[in-house]
Amino acid sequence: MKQQIQSALENIYISPLELCNLNCRACYTNKTKNILSNQQILDFVEKYNRFLKKDFKDTIFYDIERGDTFAEHKKFVSRNLKLKSILFCGGEVFTLPDFPDLINTLIQKDIFITIITNGTIDCINKINDPKNCQLLVSLDGPKEIHDRNRGPGNFDKTIKFIQHAQQLGFPIEIMFLITKDSYPYKGFFNVFGLPKTYLTDRKMSLSKNQLLDIKKNYQTFPNKNFGCSQLSLQSSGIITGCCESSLRLGTINDDPATYVANFIKSLSKCSICQKCNGCCDPNYLCGYKTELNLKNCQDVVQSFK
Ligand code: SF4
Ligand code: SF4
Repeated sequence: MKQQIQSALENIYISPLELCNLNCRACYTNKTKNILSNQQILDFVEKYNRFLKKDFKDTIFYDIERGDTFAEHKKFVSRNLKLKSILFCGGEVFTLPDFPDLINTLIQKDIFITIITNGTIDCINKINDPKNCQLLVSLDGPKEIHDRNRGPGNFDKTIKFIQHAQQLGFPIEIMFLITKDSYPYKGFFNVFGLPKTYLTDRKMSLSKNQLLDIKKNYQTFPNKNFGCSQLSLQSSGIITGCCESSLRLGTINDDPATYVANFIKSLSKCSICQKCNGCCDPNYLCGYKTELNLKNCQDVVQSFK
């Protein structure tokens, strides 16, 4: 678990906005108008990275293995960490005209970037170092099904975007959304042989058996064994333990020691249970408990085996 926490602190998530140029039927974001500016993000990154590199070793944290409270038992988690990567999501980050500038600055700071995008706004030629910027492009299956969810013409735009990104040398993966419409294509939908991660429809169009089939037999996000917690800065300035949880650990203005301690604490239940690789918000667990009508997270984990 310690190694996992270390990785979750060194590889973080930032959502600069929830707004999007599309209005997909299957979208579940709230589309608030919050936007983090490039300067806010850079200031956050600098403060957080400084904390990981220098201050972290002098900070005292909750002992997750003993399950003691933060105040009662004190122990270092690790030393001399470094912010290695940032995964950006939205909304659609490429609606922000100065987003490529932010990416170029962060890559210069030796941070690997991953961007989740719908692939309909092509400004990727403004990114200077494609090999250090992975693109996770959303597709919902064949053209008719994709456009039914995302609007006419968008499948073709996204395919063109992928071809352009390939020419420029970006690492690319497909985020394949499985709804009741795309489920029949689960086994053979293929875009230029690119690797795929499956996402199940959060609007619950899948039957229970379909959902279990995808979770058991395909590579999904979240992974069926979970372990997907990752310190996350939301567009509201609130910091959470992953991109999906709304459990507040602190804010962009706090001392990193505060939200990092709360993050570690959020994993304490899982560090004792260890039935899966853990979740920062096990009562929520990406909504699966509700979706499958199961009484707790342990039952969800068992159902995915
Ligand atoms: S089953 Fe639940 S409490 Fe146990 S490790 Fe997994 S998410 Fe945590
Ligand atoms: S809520 Fe839990 S399962 Fe969902 S992404 Fe976050 S850590 Fe993973």
